[in-house]
Amino acid sequence: MASGKKFIVQSNWKMNKSFDDGLAYLSAIRSAESRFFGAVELVLCVPSTLLKTLADAARGIACVSMGAQNVHWEDKGAYTGEISAPMLKEAGARYCVVGHSERRDSFADTDERVQWKAKACLKQGITPIVCIGESLQERKRGQTLAKLEYQFLTCFEGFTSEDMENIVIEYEPIWAIGSGHVATPQQAGEAHQFIREMIKKYHSKETALKTHIIYGGSVKVKNVLEMSEARDTDGVGVGSDSWDVQNFIKLAEICAQSFSKHSAS
Ligand code: PEP
Repeated sequence: MASGKKFIVQSNWKMNKSFDDGLAYLSAIRSAESRFFGAVELVLCVPSTLLKTLADAARGIACVSMGAQNVHWEDKGAYTGEISAPMLKEAGARYCVVGHSERRDSFADTDERVQWKAKACLKQGITPIVCIGESLQERKRGQTLAKLEYQFLTCFEGFTSEDMENIVIEYEPIWAIGSGHVATPQQAGEAHQFIREMIKKYHSKETALKTHIIYGGSVKVKNVLEMSEARDTDGVGVGSDSWDVQNFIKLAEICAQSFSKHSAS
């Protein structure tokens, strides 16, 4: 891990939680902040309607950054129901999930669109959390690394090294999302190492060290330690097990302890 990098613990709220739920969640994190030793960055990817209120409420909680879950690639226009990167920025988003498998599956987020969306985020200084990963069928056929390479080359086409340093790549095997079937640390580590090697090949070693690569897919309190210690892992993305704030605090605490121990050694 490059020096100065924090370990990311990302929570994807999906289509859950009210204003009151969100404010109570933040207040619990504020009370627990000292347990994270400044080692982790908690990225809360919330429904867009909650973003502004929660971003305002999170000011002063140093470990928390707010994120969105989707964005349109254009800055403005006749796109009913969509939200642009300048709008997300104005609402306080510092991160935005792009290309989540649920959106790829149900809302036609292709790799090309993912690339446009990530570029739209970067233009506003928002860090895109770009999700890539294989289906179960692709894994069974031995096509995992080929799929990752294809997605890497398509999603990040035209990205400069500086762009690559300002994104988060989330390896999310589709079969692990919301399924309870977490990847093994070896499977995650192999994918992360491969992604890091591709950044080295197409950019540089320095850039590869700076890019955050995180794992998402059925991370839970019971497996987060081993997943956080998988090879080349700079963070974890958590869905359902992060919806209970006490659980999320436990997850973050485990990551912070492990990260601090390894950074000191
Ligand atoms: C996600 O949807 O980003 C995710 C990681 O979900 P889960 O942890 O529930 O698999």
